[in-house]
Amino acid sequence: MKFFGILSAVNSLGMGNLTFEKELYKIEYNSCIQSTFYKKRMIMRTRFGELENMMVKEKAYAKVNLGLDVLRRRPDGYHELKMIMQTVDICDDLTFERKKEPGVLLRIEGADLPADKDNLVCRATALLMEEKRIHEGVSITLKKRIPIAAGMAGGSADAAATMRGLNALFEMGYSTEKLRKLGVKLGADIPYCILGGTMLSEGIGEVLTPLAPPPECCLVVAKPDIDVSTAFVYRNLKADSLPFHPDIDGMARALEAGDLQGITDRMENVLETVTVREYPIIDRIKGRMRELGAENALMSGSGPTVFGIYKDRETAKKAADAIREEKLAGAVFETRFCGGVNA
Ligand code: ATP
Repeated sequence: MKFFGILSAVNSLGMGNLTFEKELYKIEYNSCIQSTFYKKRMIMRTRFGELENMMVKEKAYAKVNLGLDVLRRRPDGYHELKMIMQTVDICDDLTFERKKEPGVLLRIEGADLPADKDNLVCRATALLMEEKRIHEGVSITLKKRIPIAAGMAGGSADAAATMRGLNALFEMGYSTEKLRKLGVKLGADIPYCILGGTMLSEGIGEVLTPLAPPPECCLVVAKPDIDVSTAFVYRNLKADSLPFHPDIDGMARALEAGDLQGITDRMENVLETVTVREYPIIDRIKGRMRELGAENALMSGSGPTVFGIYKDRETAKKAADAIREEKLAGAVFETRFCGGVNA
């Protein structure tokens, strides 16, 4: 999409007599498809071929769940969910470059994560390349910042960013809707991560309804030094006898009304019934965040990450410093909510 946008912008600027025989061209100077694009000198050729210098960059944003409910366990083993997803300003960076030899070459910086076929980036690449029967290859660099196995959908965000990136790089022409349909084959959070923002997510994660973003506020996100398996949490969840159900509809109304207290009063996550029992540190961090001035604090997804919502930056900063000093969590971020890919 960005690719075509830039193509037509360049065309309308009258830069040369361009006849795009195959709508493919070469841009020299190792240029990236992003906002700095126009600062670089471009030499465009109408010949189909050499695209080694073409690079696409994508950001993969983490999410938290402002509310998470499980309605039931379906006979096929999947859980029917009702949750409010929200993008946060913590991201991984991905770059994609075409290469002639088939296959994926994945390089990971900032995390000890296997760069093999099980990595969600490679799985998303295989899915799209097979669907489109593309026999070229791709080199991918993944700079990891989102904590792993944290309940922040880091892997899903990377997979979604890979789908967006390859869609642009190879001009696959997939709509967002189609990418979402393909993405759900790899993971329930991937359809949401294709666009991000504030969304009501239902079904197994594939039924998405955009909502108004929360009012301006500050966030502290803390990931204690434990890794939680999402599969373990769902396996141990008593979906048919949950002690409470979050008021997701009420939270959606509070979002529409821009009512921060209406949102924070309704922050609940039924997966805490499993993860908090297993790891009491989560409750300690929640309690400490509230003592330090949070409007409310909650575990995200299947955990163990906890986020606290603060009205002002100073209080959030003090809370983050205290949580670091008290060594309650190995990774602590002061951050904010942000919009999705099109924001
Ligand atoms: P969710 O909130 O969607 O349940 P999560 O934040 O709990 O996800 P992830 O960070 O996505 O968890 O990682 C879950 C598992 O996926 C990890 O055990 C990890 O080994 C594997 N994984 C595969 N690819 C990636 C990737 N690109 N980034 C992070 N984890 C990945």
